[in-house]
Amino acid sequence: MKAVAAYKYYDAETVEEACAVLNQYAGKAKVLAGGTDLVDWMKRRFMPTPEVLVNIKKIPGLSGITEEGGALKIGATTTLTDIVENSTIQSKYKSLADAAAKGPPPPIRNMGTVAGNLCQYVRCWYYRWPDWYCYRKGGPICFAPGGRNVPHAIMEQKVCNAVVPSDLAVPLAAMNATLTVQGTGGTREVAVKDLYVVLGTVLKPDEIITSVTVPEAPTKQAFLKSRVRAGVDFALVSAAAATTSKGTTVALGGVAPIMVAGTPDAINAAIDKATPLSENRYKVSVAKAMVRRVTA
Ligand SMILES: Cc1cc2nc3c(=O)[nH]c(=O)nc-3n(C[C@H](O)[C@H](O)[C@H](O)COP(=O)(O)OP(=O)(O)OC[C@H]3O[C@@H](n4cnc5c(N)ncnc54)[C@H](O)[C@@H]3O)c2cc1C
Ligand code: SF4
Repeated sequence: MKAVAAYKYYDAETVEEACAVLNQYAGKAKVLAGGTDLVDWMKRRFMPTPEVLVNIKKIPGLSGITEEGGALKIGATTTLTDIVENSTIQSKYKSLADAAAKGPPPPIRNMGTVAGNLCQYVRCWYYRWPDWYCYRKGGPICFAPGGRNVPHAIMEQKVCNAVVPSDLAVPLAAMNATLTVQGTGGTREVAVKDLYVVLGTVLKPDEIITSVTVPEAPTKQAFLKSRVRAGVDFALVSAAAATTSKGTTVALGGVAPIMVAGTPDAINAAIDKATPLSENRYKVSVAKAMVRRVTA
């Protein structure tokens, strides 16, 4: 691990200020929340160091968990520990508490935030190594199909086979959660299931997530995660189901570079059409079994 290269640091006091700095540096500035992923990235230097870090953790009102009019609102800088320990989430949105508890270890949960978890970089080992110049870094090739690909995608691959690494995205997508996103041009809502595109997210360089809203508490829900090390590890496959007034939605994690969410029938059909790589065919049967179990 190398020392972090030089960068400028900006403590934002308001969301507007944060967006203005992001806009000024047009793609060369990064939002800093808990720093548990971003600083690791900067130390490993697998991508160029941002010119500016915009710290959003001191912005008043960006952290906290409230329930209003039947909807749950979670501020962007709320930590994963807050999610695990919150009594409303434990009782009414348990699949979210389960996903946070089965995510990173406690020291990372104490620092890591909800929005940071959703926006963390993919865990592809080629991507996270400086010498491998792949598609996601603007290079000419994806190394996964011809290389080691046990944890990689089995569907929706297009040019990149890395999977969305966020555990929280899975129950949030199943619960039809939306993100409030603010930029210099105003505020908009983005469904969690639509946050990811094949090589990143739909967020513009001057936008930050300010909160996550779950529109209603599910009447039935479940979250399951399979991983190599039972103590702490990223998902090989995960699944969540949530039944609300709109029906049952299933979401899968660990299978694609984008969120895979829909009715149980649609998700089973998507698994049937999966295109696994040389080492990850096992994910097809794990995903099938998980969908059966979370919807039982
Ligand atoms: C040892 C270890 C084990 C882990 N295991 C798991 C696991 O099993 N499951 C899992 O899901 N995660 C896991 N993680 C990832 C961890 O959950 C994330 O590192 C953490 O949640 C990131 O949050 P942060 O606030 O520290 O983000 P940061 O590191 O500050 O930021 C991460 C990214 O999100 C962007 N960002 C942050 N906040 C916003 C915002 N409000 N709007 C827009 N962009 C934003 C940043 O610019 C950056 O690109 C693990 C991490 C470690 C170190
Ligand atoms: S899976 Fe994506 S991140 Fe990994 S090597 Fe291929 S293009 Fe790069």
